[in-house]
Amino acid sequence: MIAVLPGDGIGPEVIREAVAGMDAAACALGLELTFEQFPCGAAQYQRTGRQWSRGALRACRRAEAVLFGAVGLPGVTLDDGRAAGADVLFGLRQGLYANVRPVKLMPGVRPLLGGRPSAVRPEDVNLVVVRENTEGLYAPFAPLLPKGPEARDVRTITLSASRRIIRHAFSLAAARNKRVTCVDKSNLLAGCVLFSQAFQDIATRHPQVKTDHLFIDAAMPALLRNPAAYDVLVTTNLFGDILSDLASVLGGGLGTAPSANLGTKRGMFEPVHGSAPDIAGKDTANPVGAVLSGAMLLEWLSRKGEWRYQVAGSLLEQAVRDVTSRGICTPDIGGTARCSEVGAAIVESVAANAKKMRDAR
Ligand code: ATP
Repeated sequence: MIAVLPGDGIGPEVIREAVAGMDAAACALGLELTFEQFPCGAAQYQRTGRQWSRGALRACRRAEAVLFGAVGLPGVTLDDGRAAGADVLFGLRQGLYANVRPVKLMPGVRPLLGGRPSAVRPEDVNLVVVRENTEGLYAPFAPLLPKGPEARDVRTITLSASRRIIRHAFSLAAARNKRVTCVDKSNLLAGCVLFSQAFQDIATRHPQVKTDHLFIDAAMPALLRNPAAYDVLVTTNLFGDILSDLASVLGGGLGTAPSANLGTKRGMFEPVHGSAPDIAGKDTANPVGAVLSGAMLLEWLSRKGEWRYQVAGSLLEQAVRDVTSRGICTPDIGGTARCSEVGAAIVESVAANAKKMRDAR
């Protein structure tokens, strides 16, 4: 069973298209997926006084994987002033130590820089930001509201969590272009010194993988100037959040960016964007980030040896490519199509490509 949590704002619109695409790709390979939907987030809190629906967290724990939309609505807060919905995200991510955020530029998508299409080409953008997901400044145990005229955020970086995420980055790079860049601020921050030492140590055990190192401030412009130079970038929690949002510009913007949160046994997949309440309910949200998160989920299901999940994931990603290259895009990436039209075109393309695959056999 795949637990589906559409959440708030544009979450339900984009997740609907992701589920339709995943279902079409799985069916084309003779696989049967079962989806169970659970309301959660700020709207759920407004309706019921609880951020989770009954049994949802338990169902997510026993599900094969979780597909999540986004949570949060302006002005909807808990009694203690924190944003309603955030606990859902923290709850789901608990124990999922690797936040994996690929950035690819799909054909037909022209990233906007300064309001104009940039000259960056699809073949130049194929990188992954691997972000430590359990500690650093976003650790759930960090105090969330200032209690007085001074506020302190505690940033804990441990050797064990650093080693775990860096190992993950190296194993990912081994299956890709064999290059890992460590991004930190080890010229100033003690936690980053630890992170960077762990990186150097693990790098010596992977001589087949090329490595380099960038300080976070230098990494931002370097990535925009020459994305083709990067394959896997590994970093701590907050830096990873910022770096991947910036990198998503290279793929056409937040609406196009997928992500996975992975632990040793569980996986939760979600578009990088938030609930974007300004465009919710208008059928203009870009479903590509959510659909590509669904493709990542399918590929992840193949880890136990069922190769058809891998093919289903590739089929879904190829369908997104076909659709964007035909100019069927939402307004955020320069098109005029509606969210539902992009989703329907993706499903059609999955079916057409699956037929071609069968005819070629
Ligand atoms: P969060 O902090 O919850 O991650 P955020 O502050 O990063 O959220 P988003 O909700 O992701 O903000 O959205 C920022 C803006 O980007 C939105 O107001 C919206 O205009 C645009 N945007 C985000 N996602 C999409 C999408 N899928 N399609 C089109 N535009 C989007």
